[in-house]
Amino acid sequence: MPSAAETITLPGSMPGTQRQLRVFSFGDPGARPKAYLQAGLHADEPAGMMILRELCKLLAAAEEAGEIKGEIVVIPMANPLGVDQALNSAVMGRFELRTGANFNRAWPDLVSGLADSVRKRIGKDADDNVELVRRELRRRIAALQPENPTMAQRIALARRAHDADLVVDLHCDDEALSYMMTPDALWDEAKRFAADVGVHSLQPNGHSDGAHCFDDCFLAPWQALNQEFGARVPLACRAFTFEMGGVLDVDPKQAGRYAQGFFRYLRRIGCIEGAAPRSRPNGLNEFRTFEMLDSPTGGLLLYRQELGAWVSPGDVLAEIVDPTAPDLDAPPAVIKASMKGCVVSRRLSRQVAFGDFVVMLAGHEQPASGKSKSLLD
Ligand SMILES: [Zn+2]
Repeated sequence: MPSAAETITLPGSMPGTQRQLRVFSFGDPGARPKAYLQAGLHADEPAGMMILRELCKLLAAAEEAGEIKGEIVVIPMANPLGVDQALNSAVMGRFELRTGANFNRAWPDLVSGLADSVRKRIGKDADDNVELVRRELRRRIAALQPENPTMAQRIALARRAHDADLVVDLHCDDEALSYMMTPDALWDEAKRFAADVGVHSLQPNGHSDGAHCFDDCFLAPWQALNQEFGARVPLACRAFTFEMGGVLDVDPKQAGRYAQGFFRYLRRIGCIEGAAPRSRPNGLNEFRTFEMLDSPTGGLLLYRQELGAWVSPGDVLAEIVDPTAPDLDAPPAVIKASMKGCVVSRRLSRQVAFGDFVVMLAGHEQPASGKSKSLLD
């Protein structure tokens, strides 16, 4: 067992509806580097939860062997509020049902006014400045008001994540290859991380849209201060989001391989004792452009390309059959690629409505359809 498995009680919306957040901690509190990993912020995305369960086993063994040098905090199920929301047996874990809030949007703004609040105390020593900024972030998070259960849950997570050197948020898609998303500023480091974990591809995130996702909540303050003060305030928190395949990807063996990958990277950055591992043979794809294709009609969905297939403009990706079409020989509607790309994500359900998302291509060239958009988990 790990040295500390803490249970935090979160308020529910009514008396008798509290939730519990389970936090696993490895290594000494305050040791550096500190890594924070969570899964299930979108509570209907179970792939990452299994990976962190497996990672906890590896970390517990490493702790037993005295190998944990930093501090590692793991929250395998970060959204006890969402995980218990269901409608007719389907988990509704992306949005908080009472308010409609997306659990991974509109995280607190820790940037506004931050530069001014530390300006007079910023000195020449970068390490001292990092400590100063972490204290200021802690103060800001302590001042946040838990005005509803979702906010109380966010504050509980932020209290544990805000001072980490590494923040990792695991999500998954509907039916997808695994991929990592990163801001451009961290691209080179993300390549090492993605290769260690063994994901299929690295992709830019879409944070310029001002969505205030979880990872951005902790990275954005450092980016803002680094821009303002230069090298005196380095990027002291690196925050990344992973999409670890699809909702069916809960096989413990596969999860165990990914957990080994995260463990490898934690060793690379010095959280765990041992020589930095050599990079794995790098089969990592780096994608910059995307095409999101929606269904032109409602019906039954037949895929013509598997995940991982490379396609060219004009290739048929899927057909949609209308089972009520009076003409029994009527051809199905088709969805075609308009760019050269790899099929990285698909809708899981084979029943599709007019306008539903169906398939995502990723590649290097802009789609002719213009249906590109920035990625958000
Ligand atoms: Zn998600």
